[in-house]
Amino acid sequence: MLFFYSCKQAHQKLSESLDHELGLAERTHLKLHLSVCRSCTNFRGQMQNLRAAMKKLDQDEREK
Ligand SMILES: [Zn+2]
Repeated sequence: MLFFYSCKQAHQKLSESLDHELGLAERTHLKLHLSVCRSCTNFRGQMQNLRAAMKKLDQDEREK
């Protein structure tokens, strides 16, 4: 078992986490990776912003 995800794996898991809830082991590995990797932490922030923006667009669309 790999202790740390590579950045590539972390990105993949971050994308997956938008579609479905990750398992405990996956979340733990991701958290470990994020705690040592600045670029993936930034990537996660961007994904969350993007997601929030999409959600808002969706809501605006419905309010029309
Ligand atoms: Zn990384």
